[in-house]
Amino acid sequence: MTTRRLYYDDAFEKEFTARVMHCEVLPPDVSAGITGTVWGLLLDRTAFYPTSGGQPNDLGKIGDANVLDVRDEGDEILHVVDRKPSSPDVNGCIHWPRRFDHMQQHTGQHLLSAMFQERFGLPTVSFHLGTEMCTIDLRGPEPTEEILEGAERAANRIIFEDRPVNVRYGTADQLAQQGVRKEVNREGILRAIEIEGADLQPCGGTHVKSTGQIGVVLVRRCTKVRQDWRVEFVCGGRAERVARHDFESLRQTAEKLSSVPEDLVSAASRAVAERDANFKLVRALQERLAQAEATLALQTVSHGANGSLVFSRIFEGVSADYLGFFATAFAKSEKAIALLGTVEGGHLLFAQHPSAGKDMNSLLKQVLEKAGGKGGGTRDFARGRLNEGASPERALSVAKEMLG
Ligand SMILES: [Zn+2]
Repeated sequence: MTTRRLYYDDAFEKEFTARVMHCEVLPPDVSAGITGTVWGLLLDRTAFYPTSGGQPNDLGKIGDANVLDVRDEGDEILHVVDRKPSSPDVNGCIHWPRRFDHMQQHTGQHLLSAMFQERFGLPTVSFHLGTEMCTIDLRGPEPTEEILEGAERAANRIIFEDRPVNVRYGTADQLAQQGVRKEVNREGILRAIEIEGADLQPCGGTHVKSTGQIGVVLVRRCTKVRQDWRVEFVCGGRAERVARHDFESLRQTAEKLSSVPEDLVSAASRAVAERDANFKLVRALQERLAQAEATLALQTVSHGANGSLVFSRIFEGVSADYLGFFATAFAKSEKAIALLGTVEGGHLLFAQHPSAGKDMNSLLKQVLEKAGGKGGGTRDFARGRLNEGASPERALSVAKEMLG
């Protein structure tokens, strides 16, 4: 039995009456988020659009039952509902904001695809209407910024002209003669959507009545997906929300940079340049401070039994880089050995002047084996990191013991 699709002739029909032709319990469909008992309903006629052709299904009510899913099963449309109807005659009501949103996006897609193809020779190979973003995949060379903007502007011009959107029926041959955008090889009478003077495209979906109802098209990112170019876009109510959200982000970012949205790019460039200059300055100052501290340390440390100068310290509030500067400066002196660690992050650094004659790499490895951690280096310079919770004090006292 064929379900009559009311939306084919009137996509603005929100409520309808129908007769239940068949009703049965369906197995749960966990992948669709349906876990409880659900029923599958076949009606003689329906305004509910089933998921197909890139457009998601409608939601709404049939009698007291909530419609959870609508599936296209060839000639029939299956409504998945959460309770059994009490009467064979039912009223159906589709959730209009969701449907209208889909119609705005879907009609906008026809128009945008037509502009990419006609003006820039980029055919659309697929379309997806997501919960946030819509995408079309274009085939051909990479669309430049000028092309993306050009297609957007051309589509919006036709939206502002508020051209009629018509449903046409014809055979594949008849549609081909009328200049259909995408030829199909299907038998029988086909349904096609015409945007007057702009596009003719075979489609079984739901569309607005005139281009003005699309509102506006906003083209967003373009990324490469396999051999095609995926263009993100939004229309109508979604474009309004996205634009509002974008401005809100710009305003808050500008506020953080003590600027205004109009000057945001130069304010951000200044902030980044300042950050980079400060980074260099801090690094240079750290190096100078570490050299001064190393000089001081050399004056206080006394010679060990074999003449070596062993210095060990746990630093607080310094970076791993600081250890490096300190060790490099300290180990410039004959016979010097530095065993260093940090409280924060558990960094270790062992360094020596070659004349000290030990092996810092193997010393570090033995210490890390006992204390727990990872690291390595050369005979004269080795760095590592303790596992979380391991004590740097203990690691350094183990190292001192091993040096003898
Ligand atoms: Zn369509």
